[in-house]
Amino acid sequence: PTDLNRLTDEYLRLAYQGLRAKDKSFNASLTTDFSTDLPPVTLVGVDVGRVLLNLFANAFYAVRQRQQQGDPGYQPQVGVRTVLLNQQVQIQVTDNGTGMPESVKEKIFQPFFTTKPSGEGTGLGLSLSYDIIAQGHGGTLTVESQEGHGTTFSMGLPV
Ligand code: ADP
Ligand code: MG
Repeated sequence: PTDLNRLTDEYLRLAYQGLRAKDKSFNASLTTDFSTDLPPVTLVGVDVGRVLLNLFANAFYAVRQRQQQGDPGYQPQVGVRTVLLNQQVQIQVTDNGTGMPESVKEKIFQPFFTTKPSGEGTGLGLSLSYDIIAQGHGGTLTVESQEGHGTTFSMGLPV
């Protein structure tokens, strides 16, 4: 049984610090909105932590990429929200990064699909994440994205 607010907060900060250790000039504003009445959720092993790390790493990558496009006044933001909805604890990770066109969005759960240069992405994160959440936990992993505006991934874990 795991307190998902604690796990989520820990991994958000870990992902941000990891990136800042490599690129000290990178800054993003982090926002959290944690439901105060989440029941503990039973997790299998440490895999859900890896799913969170990959979602955060992808979000930071997307905001950094948009920042590098040089749009003046752009402020990178990554947020996370937890909520109890439909007998699931939902964790929503939102970024205001590059977003994705439809042609990318339809392939992101396929193994080895990546738009990142070699060495920066394996394309395995989301396909493994989908299996861990769906098969491993009976949960759901969905995405909403608007090219040029940002992306939200929602992960739902049954109570
Ligand atoms: P990788 O990060 O190694 O590329 P993933 O499976 O984690 O592999 O992601 C696959 C692809 O999905 C990424 O290369 C990128 O094109 C897209 N993607 C994932 N998350 C985001 C995001 N938050 N914003 C924009 N694109 C994303
Ligand atoms: Mg990834």
